[in-house]
Formats: sequence, C-alpha cells, structure tokens
Amino acid sequence: MREYTSNSEKETEEIAAELAKTLKKGDVVCLDGDLGAGKTAFVRGLARGMGLDAHVSSPTFTIVNEYGSGDTMLYHFDVYRIGSEDELYEIGFDEYIFGEGISVIEWSENIQDSLPDKRLEIKIMRRPENGDDFRTITIEEIK
Ligand code: ADP
Ligand code: MG
Repeated sequence: MREYTSNSEKETEEIAAELAKTLKKGDVVCLDGDLGAGKTAFVRGLARGMGLDAHVSSPTFTIVNEYGSGDTMLYHFDVYRIGSEDELYEIGFDEYIFGEGISVIEWSENIQDSLPDKRLEIKIMRRPENGDDFRTITIEEIK
C-alpha cells in the first residue's frame, strides 16, 4: 500500500496523473472517499496522465462517461446514486471493466459485489485537523 498526502486539488491531480502512466490496458481503479474528497479531481488527473484532453465531471445521471478514442479509453463511473447492482447490467458494466480501456469507479464501495478481483483501491480521506485542503490518498493493489 502506498500513501500520499495532498494539499491542493492540483496536487491530487498530479498524483493521479503519475499513477496513470503506470496503468495498463483493462485496469480497474476504484475510488472511495466522502463527498468533496476529491474523487472527480483524481479522475481529471488520470485523464490528463493518459494524455486525454477531456472535460471530466461526475457522470451523476448517466453512471458512466467515456473519454478518449481508439485504444486510449477512460471509462468514468460514478455509482453514488445506484439503486441496485442490477442496474449495472443494463449499462453493460462487465463489458467496460473487462474491456481494453481503463475503468475508474467513484463510490466503488456501493457495488462491492460487482467489482473484479484484480483492481486498484484508492481512498481519499480528509484530516480536518490538518486543514481544509489536506487529503491522504492511499493506493492499494488487490489481486
Ligand atoms: P468528489 O468527486 O470526491 O465528490 P470533487 O473532486 O468533485 O470531489 O471535489 C473536491 C473538492 O475539494 C473541489 O472543490 C476541490 O477544489 C476541493 N479540494 C480541496 N483540497 C483538495 C485536495 N487536496 N484534493 C482534491 N480536491 C481538493
Ligand atoms: Mg465526484
């Protein structure tokens, strides 16, 4: 498990952009942390690190946004409002996560039973005693 600290949105994006360079086709990145922790900011950094000039915002109403083209795809899920994991089948979740693109899932803890065994688990946590913009970011490889 690796642990980083961030003191700004920009720093969080930078940590994500560095991680992006190490990702391989088909990797699944799970992102958890409270509302406003910086999950979407992290995804923005991932996209940039992949060389994508994408407008990243949380896909709250569609569950998934797709960025990129050809063999550089980033699938951005936000399952905050998912009612049941059955809804994932309707959007073809497995085809995304077992596909060639990179998948990143905000609020992955809401769909624990549908996550692949092999994934990266990233948790972004505030530490209010260290200031409003302080975050710890842990990255754990699950196999
Ligand atoms: P989430 O997707 O987890 O709900 P967002 O990425 O949408 O969170 O928003 C994070 C908010 O917190 C933004 O307004 C951002 O400017 C702010 N922020 C402050 N400090 C940080 C930090 N260290 N990392 C990420 N975001 C931060
Ligand atoms: Mg978000």
